[in-house]
Amino acid sequence: MNAEIIAIGHELLMGETVDTNTSFLAQELSRAGIPVRWAGIVGDDISDLNYAISQAGDRADVIVTTGGLGPTSDDLTREAVAGVLLEEMKVDSGLLEWLEGVFVSRGMPMPRTNIKQAMLIPSAETVPNPQGTAPGWWVRKNDTHIILLPGPPRELKRMWTETVGPELALMSGVGSVVTRTLKTVGISEGGIDEMLHGLFGLQNPYLGIYAHQDGIHLRMIARAPEEDEAQVLIQPMESEIRSIIGEAIWGVDDETPGNRARELLSASGATLGVIEGISGGVLASQLTQPNAHSNSFKGSLIASANGIVEVPGGGTFDANDMTGGPAALEMANRARTLFNSDYGLCVSARDESGYYIAIASSEVQHVSQIQATYARAVTMQRSATTALVQLVSILKR
Ligand code: AMP
Ligand code: MG
Repeated sequence: MNAEIIAIGHELLMGETVDTNTSFLAQELSRAGIPVRWAGIVGDDISDLNYAISQAGDRADVIVTTGGLGPTSDDLTREAVAGVLLEEMKVDSGLLEWLEGVFVSRGMPMPRTNIKQAMLIPSAETVPNPQGTAPGWWVRKNDTHIILLPGPPRELKRMWTETVGPELALMSGVGSVVTRTLKTVGISEGGIDEMLHGLFGLQNPYLGIYAHQDGIHLRMIARAPEEDEAQVLIQPMESEIRSIIGEAIWGVDDETPGNRARELLSASGATLGVIEGISGGVLASQLTQPNAHSNSFKGSLIASANGIVEVPGGGTFDANDMTGGPAALEMANRARTLFNSDYGLCVSARDESGYYIAIASSEVQHVSQIQATYARAVTMQRSATTALVQLVSILKR
């Protein structure tokens, strides 16, 4: 197998931007076992792009492009690939939903021009971009792979490290790639960076740090000829991370705060009752995933956006009354009574600055204040996740 790199953008041809992506990709492709035989730069011009892509298609097994995936009319890489392959671009509903979510979380309306970033052709799959609005494409057609990545080096590198590089290494047969993610809460990204100082910057195993809604994730990636050898490379790094910040780790790999909370509750035979303000039922839905077979989650009382709910068995629950730490803690204790549970949890309503999370049991009376100025839909999701992560760190003590 061999590869061709095409760097796309007028700014590169004008000499205004130095093409650092090609040198990154050239190094990475050879590490992944696919030597680069051709590399070139093309401007944002549809006929030049068509020519470069069809020429590459005639000679390379893997074509990697960078740039031209922005939302504006001079970003033409997708159009060129669709044109060369004679395929039609269509909006992908899943991608569109994700893209709209990105804008919601930035508190901005989505310009119509961005819709084009949610388009795919039938032979393309998405390469997730966790840091920008331009997802990549991975096209498989006639034994050729065409991989489209965005221009900003930060986005390109992360997409490479997390998705493209490991997959290509597997494909070329250079060996196995093993990844392991440790999910943490309670220490800032900068704090972790300092504490694990000596572990960053290594090549194999590689350690990445990423901020997510459910806390800071540490992702280790190791490569070796065989899978168990790659595992062996990861183990000492994992032990070292655990010895330094073990307290802060609440889950691994694809564990979610909801399934961790359920597991820990069932393991200790404890039950949970919930009262929800701003999380609006999202917390309950995260605890009631399909196939959950335990009875540890007893239920949730959910306030309407600004409303008052009549509490079964007497009294009312006023969501507007829930701001303030002591009020939230009282609600957590009322959730215990209401649901006859060992633990009570309350996510309060939100005021201008944020909301409260309270967790109560016979031994724990915990309140924390969370700053939140995001759009309501985002806060609904995040507050539920944050509350569950806090519950998990209390349960695993
Ligand atoms: P684009 O995906 O074409 O919208 O690219 C966005 C930005 O990424 C450009 O303005 C450049 O600053 C940067 N960029 C694009 N291509 C490269 C490259 N080959 N090397 C380094 N930076 C690049
Ligand atoms: Mg560009």
